[in-house]
Amino acid sequence: MDPILQGLNAAQYDAVTSPADVIQVLAPPGSGKTKTLTSRVAYLLRHHKYKPWNVICLTFTIKSSREMKERIAKLLGNGIEAKLILGTFHSVCRRYLVTYGHLIGIKKGFGIADSSDTISIMKRIIKRLGLTIDARKAQSRISSSKSRGISWAEIAQQQLKEKKKDIEQHEFVVVFEAYEDQLAKSNLLDYDDLLLRCVHLLRQHPTCVSNVEVVLIDEFQDTNLVQFDLMRLFAAKNRRVTTVGDPDQSIYGWRSAEIKNLKRMQKQYPDTLVIHLQDNYRSSGAILLAAQEVIEQDESRPSKFLQPTHCPGTTPVLRRLPSSEIEASWIVSEILRIIGLTGRLLTFSDFSILLRSAALSRQVESAMGKAGIPYRMVGGQRFFDRAEIKLVLDYLRVLSQPSNNDALARIINVPTRGIGVTTAKNLLEEAEMMKVTLWTHIRDAVLGRQSVRTKISKPAEQGLGSLTRIILTCRKNIVDEEKPQSPEDLVQYITKQLGLQNYLEKNYPNDHETRWANIEELFAQAAEYPVLHVENSLEEEGSDHLPSIEGLEQDKGPPGEEALSKFLANVALATELQRDDDDAEEAKTQPQVTISTIHAAKGLEWPVIFVPSTYEGSIPHSRAEDNDEERRLLYVAMTRAQALLYMSCPIKNSQREETKLSQFLSTKKVGRYLVSKGPAVSPNTVNDLSRILRRGCPTEAHILEASKNLQSYEDNLWPVNAEEDSKAIQARWSKWDEARGNEHVAKRRRVNDS
Ligand code: ATP
Ligand code: MG
Repeated sequence: MDPILQGLNAAQYDAVTSPADVIQVLAPPGSGKTKTLTSRVAYLLRHHKYKPWNVICLTFTIKSSREMKERIAKLLGNGIEAKLILGTFHSVCRRYLVTYGHLIGIKKGFGIADSSDTISIMKRIIKRLGLTIDARKAQSRISSSKSRGISWAEIAQQQLKEKKKDIEQHEFVVVFEAYEDQLAKSNLLDYDDLLLRCVHLLRQHPTCVSNVEVVLIDEFQDTNLVQFDLMRLFAAKNRRVTTVGDPDQSIYGWRSAEIKNLKRMQKQYPDTLVIHLQDNYRSSGAILLAAQEVIEQDESRPSKFLQPTHCPGTTPVLRRLPSSEIEASWIVSEILRIIGLTGRLLTFSDFSILLRSAALSRQVESAMGKAGIPYRMVGGQRFFDRAEIKLVLDYLRVLSQPSNNDALARIINVPTRGIGVTTAKNLLEEAEMMKVTLWTHIRDAVLGRQSVRTKISKPAEQGLGSLTRIILTCRKNIVDEEKPQSPEDLVQYITKQLGLQNYLEKNYPNDHETRWANIEELFAQAAEYPVLHVENSLEEEGSDHLPSIEGLEQDKGPPGEEALSKFLANVALATELQRDDDDAEEAKTQPQVTISTIHAAKGLEWPVIFVPSTYEGSIPHSRAEDNDEERRLLYVAMTRAQALLYMSCPIKNSQREETKLSQFLSTKKVGRYLVSKGPAVSPNTVNDLSRILRRGCPTEAHILEASKNLQSYEDNLWPVNAEEDSKAIQARWSKWDEARGNEHVAKRRRVNDS
């Protein structure tokens, strides 16, 4: 049998091989949607003779696009995956804009404004114009308008029509317009622009995607209106689209995702073939029971069963603990206990702690630190957000794009070079008045081309001189035709010129070594972006008349400049939604526990999941507008677990406030599927784990170690109401089996249970 199709169930097989043009796979977590999508890509390439540049495959996180690439590589194994147009929405759109942006007036070499850039631009505008609107609020409203494709001018027009005199609304439009203006002046695009401008491009120049034959999208439930438009436009040539999604996992409403896009797609393409997958291959039966009970609290949702293929396994735990601190040490001790108890069948990488918000991580992190458990943070303060890394990146941004006033303003006196805050502010204001960039203004002043009204002290003059020298030298080296400097050379050169190691030692006496190690890590990251001399990829076999956007992208600008802007763009994209792969390489060599936000964990799975802080105000979050979305978030967290699920709630949170258990977990119905006392493990845990994780039979050593360790826990093994629980669970199993009439599952379960 074709290895691409091996192991697929009947519904998955249909979805992978169907000749239908438009397919929408709707299915619950862990049912193999992503697996199906990946297999379909491989199948289309092999059996429909599509070339990789005919296929656009869009995901939401860098991690999932990387995983998808790996899976396709495994299925096809000839390096073809590198040529697919596969990536996050943002990265694919960026590639199109780099190649074709000039057609809609986007200047060459545009930069990407990340969220810290956008917020500082916003703050400056508000201050300059003397407005009172809150910068973060304005930023989030602008983003939400852009995600719906609405411009400031449209909002202004609407206001005129309504004749409303709402000051906040008026200020919002003013800020919105000034913000767009500032981005254009600095030749920057924000994250929303990447998508929106790509829509404009494809509307006006549909031929840019004439190479695209099929479009595939993962996690479709989280697309917004602009992303829906992108799907249509990418698929404009022959309407071949496959999407996979799950309305129960829609968790990006706060970012303007539209659950309605699922129905909208069926309307857009009336011949959509809808395929449902049922069997869950990820989680144990007991985890699915609890998760299902939570999601079923939403009565407006059509009832669906989560169909387990695994044994019931170990009942999930819900523990009330006295404080956040104790909660954190309980998690740590459970991790160590499970590793011991299972005879080291599991390593630290098999554990993940999922948080409603990154701010909750402090207690857990310090407990992990104390116990010496290695961990990686996902969605919190990450590599690219660390002060020393941001500093070097700001230098690179200025080098790549001297018009970036914000980055230049941030580095103007770091490390200290005698330029006071007032001098810097005055220089910037003067530049804005003269309608030139800050860089042009400083350079012209230093080179004596332009007199400056701002009073500049002697040390400041020297400081500006040395800054200008560094920038000019680096710029010259980057665009050098003969021997252009690579991003790695640049990072090395800059850190040396700045005396960064000394600077860190002086300013961060306690942790300068870690910070320098981060810089060294940045050398390694930069080394992944070598200077490529232009290869004419149009000569590639079979692609003589088809534009390969990868190839065209390299065609732009001198190679040194191109490598730098690619490096910076990827850094900016990596700090977007996903924010997750900082330590991916490290994780491969050293097992680490993952601490992640629930949002960043979507689509992923781990053998053991902890969901701490399940109290009212945390989940549902006190600032959340949509309770149903909060419930779905908890559902996403629970369904990441393969074998063991631990939820907990401190009686007092880290602010020492009394808490109330989350409404999603405090109902009697859910309680039936959770144990609240004692450790979660049972004598069968080791067997369950190896069965669910398919890690082969447990060895004798596993069993021996487990039974030794179990002795000491036995007193607490089951909750007081164990009998009731197991009755309810048994009843539920029989209901499933009846509903399915599927004898072999029932049989397998009986075998497993015996
Ligand atoms: P989510 O909604 O959380 O993104 P999903 O529907 O995309 O989940 P996948 O991640 O594709 O699910 O699959 C879940 C797990 O089940 C993976 O480990 C996958 O390898 C496994 N799996 C999927 N289909 C099968 C199958 N037919 N046989 C065995 N294992 C499968
Ligand atoms: Mg998935």
